[in-house]
Amino acid sequence: CGIVAIVGSTPVAPLIVDALKRLEYRGYDSAGVATIESGHLARRRAEGKLINLEKRLRDEPLDGLIGIGHTRWATHGVPNETNAHPHFAKDVAIVHNGIIENFADLRDELVAEGYTFTSQTDTEVVAHLVSRELERGETPEKAAFNALKRLEGAFALAIMFRGDEDLIIGARSGPPLAVGHGHGEMYLGSDAIALSPFTNAITYLEDGDWAVVRRAGMQIFDMNGDPVERRRQKSIGTS
Ligand code: GLU
Repeated sequence: CGIVAIVGSTPVAPLIVDALKRLEYRGYDSAGVATIESGHLARRRAEGKLINLEKRLRDEPLDGLIGIGHTRWATHGVPNETNAHPHFAKDVAIVHNGIIENFADLRDELVAEGYTFTSQTDTEVVAHLVSRELERGETPEKAAFNALKRLEGAFALAIMFRGDEDLIIGARSGPPLAVGHGHGEMYLGSDAIALSPFTNAITYLEDGDWAVVRRAGMQIFDMNGDPVERRRQKSIGTS
């Protein structure tokens, strides 16, 4: 399972799929990628190997310059296309590795408020939580932060927002997540190897960190919402 996200300057879907291939060693049962196309969230997902996703993308390409991608190792919900990530809720797109332990309580709360779920995953609650915060008038950053505070369990997340094509928010509580620094492009990935085609300048998030990633740079915050400095490293031994 793995996560790759790019705020880029060329169509990102093929780049994301190539980077996901570098995470294949972790194992997965399905894969997907989402971008923002002419102001709308769009995604392609496929059960099985990345070659199936590549075929979907050949038939129906995505041109967006910002995107998030995922290889899934199902924990909640069978491995099929409907349960494959990215998951959408209104203007929010999300990929997730790990488990949201309190997803059943959160889903009950959201269903009681009228939110409808389209997958069997634990992940989809996160998309709706963030979306609900946006509906309450919060900024994307505050919406993500408020949603993160509700989550129990282990997760790495990447979140994209329709309406802001220069923003990806990453969060880590358990599984690793790294920010990659490019020139006029920025990246998120499960590890440095995934990002090695793009950059070897890497900042690892620490547990409880979340990152606001834009083309011009990024800022990391801790679980209290305070900005924190994390060391930028040079990853070595990558091609
Ligand atoms: N728990 C999530 C799911 O089942 C994410 C699994 C993963 O880490 O890929 O969809």
